[in-house]
Amino acid sequence: MPEVLKKLIDNISLLPWIWDKTATKLAFFLLNTKWNYIDELKNNLSDIKTKISKCSICWSLTNIEDDICSVCSSYNREKNVICIVEEYLDLLTIEQTGWYNGVYHVLWGAISPINWIFASDLNINKLIERIEDSDWTVELIIATNPNIEWEATSAYIKEEIGRKWLSYKVRLTRLSRWLSSWYIEYADNITILNAIKERKEY
Ligand SMILES: [Zn+2]
Repeated sequence: MPEVLKKLIDNISLLPWIWDKTATKLAFFLLNTKWNYIDELKNNLSDIKTKISKCSICWSLTNIEDDICSVCSSYNREKNVICIVEEYLDLLTIEQTGWYNGVYHVLWGAISPINWIFASDLNINKLIERIEDSDWTVELIIATNPNIEWEATSAYIKEEIGRKWLSYKVRLTRLSRWLSSWYIEYADNITILNAIKERKEY
């Protein structure tokens, strides 16, 4: 097998969810595909490292030239309803329902001492600053995945709000137990929608 092809297969097989044979099949697909597709793919691959940044308000992803994302800059969204998610993928899943009209805060992880992820590694302090800077009462919807890391993260957020004397301006809620056996990322629109609609005080 030509060296270049072997290298490409090695590269592809490092991607998650790819089996050995899939890597080979994908490499052959690329070998036989049109030049313009390869060019576009090559450009997109380098652009994801240079043309994406994080929103300075909610920390979701946005174009490098924009300081804030399209959700935060929209006049139609309720800025005092903030949905806290672990990952950007969770935000995308909730956005797909087309129903949620608040804004977000992406933590980029959850507290997990076993994996050396602590509160200081997440955007929790930025969330606290957002609440402090807000002129209104805010509702924080903790959009949790049903696992121990998220339990720890939710509890920490609640504790921080109390510690900073911010409880008077925060209504803390969490998704209803509709989602108890689902990860947000994999839940369907109806499940997400119900989980948000029937959210409970936390
Ligand atoms: Zn934003």
